[in-house]
Amino acid sequence: MRVNRSARVADVQGLAIAGPVVRRDRLSARRANLGAVLRLLRDEGPRARTRIADDTGLPRTTVVHLVAELLDGGLVAEGEPERDGALGRPALTVGIDGADVHGIGVEVNVDYLGLLALNLRGEVALERRTPFDVPRADPKATLDETARLVAAALRAVRARGGRTVGVTLATPGAVDVAAGVVGYAANIGWRGVRALARLREGLAGELPELFLQDRPPEPGMYPELYPEPDLYLENDAKLGALAEYVPASARGVRDLVYVTGQTGVGVGIIAGGRLVRGAAGHAGEIGHLPLVPSDQRCCCGRRDCWETTVGRGALLRYAADPADAVHDPSVDPAYRLAELRRRARAADARTLDALDRIAANLGPGLALLADVLNPRLMVLGGHFAYFGRYLTDKVAAAVGERVIAPRGGGCEIVPSGLGFAAAARGGALLALDAVYRDPIRAMAGRGV
Ligand SMILES: [Zn+2]
Repeated sequence: MRVNRSARVADVQGLAIAGPVVRRDRLSARRANLGAVLRLLRDEGPRARTRIADDTGLPRTTVVHLVAELLDGGLVAEGEPERDGALGRPALTVGIDGADVHGIGVEVNVDYLGLLALNLRGEVALERRTPFDVPRADPKATLDETARLVAAALRAVRARGGRTVGVTLATPGAVDVAAGVVGYAANIGWRGVRALARLREGLAGELPELFLQDRPPEPGMYPELYPEPDLYLENDAKLGALAEYVPASARGVRDLVYVTGQTGVGVGIIAGGRLVRGAAGHAGEIGHLPLVPSDQRCCCGRRDCWETTVGRGALLRYAADPADAVHDPSVDPAYRLAELRRRARAADARTLDALDRIAANLGPGLALLADVLNPRLMVLGGHFAYFGRYLTDKVAAAVGERVIAPRGGGCEIVPSGLGFAAAARGGALLALDAVYRDPIRAMAGRGV
């Protein structure tokens, strides 16, 4: 049976917590029931219709109609037969499908733009990363280039007969999710940037046929047209945490901290299965705390900011002279870090010393997080992830020396398996969550 790695984001966002009583019409009841069936299959795995009825409390005849609708819409598929009790007749299981339903995450970071498209099964349909000097370009130019990247992905998905339900823009710094505004991102020099509005304008220029329609196309008439995808904005560390939470939650982890390894360093926090955003969305901005003495002035104008001692600039500075090719910003950071990893494996003394310094500098910040949040799992992303257990073992030792709780409070420290794609992947998952909230809209364009 296929392992279900599809999105499990709803519980992280807490979208389903109790709210005021809402009067339901027939359509909203259908939408809620379709969503309940889909979420059950996502969270608990494939099962036969009779079990879906038992598990949701919906009448069996209703479930038969709902499943038929989801099958028509391509969001579920029939799989292996399952016997209904010891004497029951075998019935086909139903599981999440949505191979042609996509979410896109696109990340703007200091030295690259990255994009990842996931389908509802959790399969990567598309992955792109291009070096880009974001602090030097103005935000408009950066967002126009981002729009071109997204437009090319939307076209590629469409060319394969797929459709995209949403696009999430990931940026560093403090973001206002509701307003679509990047409040302050020191590393890329953005302050008060209306990022989503600009991305939407850029996409309208790139894909006028997609955005000029005022209603969904009639089934079969304009097969190349689909409803406009929703646009979202979220902080890169929080999206990295969501991306890591999906596999971690499958093994029972509910408390997780994701540490970005970029030019800047921030954390995404999931506590008790909920993403911690804070009152204004700033939770996790640990990079500018004075945790380790530093001789480098930070991009925020202050000294002793933690990220000047653990960020990518620090690693490269410790590991190589300025003329060394690993400093070349026109080269994808993944290649530059692979070169440093090669040197570490070849026991190059300067590289190993640089990694030791990074591990030692990570200690105070991660110990602080371990003491305050007591996570079960700390995932080191970005450049930290390139050095595997070599770095994490030393980090774990540095943290263990400082944390007051026995055995570090039970916190495991591991490298991310997602590399520089973590934020974009989290963005794609967030975009796909719309399918579980409103399956009817996700099935538009299929004539459903
Ligand atoms: Zn700073």
